[in-house]
Amino acid sequence: MHGKHAGATTSRTERQRDKLTSLSFAMDTLRSIEASRAACAEFTARGTIGLVPTMGALHDGHLSLVRTAKSQNDFVVATVFVNPLQFGQHEDLESYPRTESEDTQRLKEGGVDLVLFLKADEMYTPANVTRITQGDLGTALEGAARPGHFDGVLTVVCKLFHITTPTRAYFGQKDFQQTVVIRRMVSDLDMPIEIVVCPTYRDADGLALSSRNAYLSPAERAEALALIASLRAVQQQFADGERSSATLESTMREVLGQKLTKSPDYAAIIRPSDFSRSLAVEAGDVAVVAAPVGPARLLDNHVLGDKLGPFSNTP
Ligand code: AMP
Repeated sequence: MHGKHAGATTSRTERQRDKLTSLSFAMDTLRSIEASRAACAEFTARGTIGLVPTMGALHDGHLSLVRTAKSQNDFVVATVFVNPLQFGQHEDLESYPRTESEDTQRLKEGGVDLVLFLKADEMYTPANVTRITQGDLGTALEGAARPGHFDGVLTVVCKLFHITTPTRAYFGQKDFQQTVVIRRMVSDLDMPIEIVVCPTYRDADGLALSSRNAYLSPAERAEALALIASLRAVQQQFADGERSSATLESTMREVLGQKLTKSPDYAAIIRPSDFSRSLAVEAGDVAVVAAPVGPARLLDNHVLGDKLGPFSNTP
């Protein structure tokens, strides 16, 4: 994939295609960093930019981010990039669903002004070695299960921020740890960007929408409801007054065990600032769960004390 000379510079044909596309559609679709940067510079001269970074295979969860971005900005830029840097060696980089024409259609209908389909060989030329890393924050929870994952996430998000220069950037609460590490990066590196975290968008039965749900058979989808069931149970027990972290976590594991075929990677209650665990749980602590279900690995979380459902799957 990382051929020696492949894609290091933007070809003339690509630039021409980028130009043509921008003339013929209300929503521009660009594929090169140079053209993307130029288009975003024009937006910046005229108003605010809301950025929605995605890996594609778009669903209503992604579209809910677009809606919020649209309501708060003059221009909305979406990126669709399956970032090789955030996938481990034996993960689903090759098989990750790629649905470019459906994504383009959905983003257009959602009122996005510009969508960027950037290419891996331009984003990461063979010479590219710089990485953003965060030590303990990036190696806890998801970072423990997926070594190097957050270095990949932070590096690509940093690059996308430089390319698109957003006023605000939109991320889903579903990937809770991601929102924390990105906020940390923005603060530590003095990036003048507001991070907006949007609520987890769920199907009516509570399953958090995820591009990886496409991997599930009907039986596995039913099994996946274990995650929301564990969060409902722990929220209920917390609302009833239980504060012992050991008791609450054991409730989560028990509920997960009733439905899941394989053991969860983790089911824990953590402090949102540093992912530490304390003996006594407080409102605002976050119940986090990750578990393999069939060929997928699913995540979910809930801020204890917050309302959890009922859910409607109407956008
Ligand atoms: P992804 O394409 O999975 O990298 O997700 C792109 C963005 O959409 C991330 O900020 C995710 O947290 C967010 N997202 C994914 N699924 C949902 C969901 N069900 N509800 C809200 N945001 C989501």
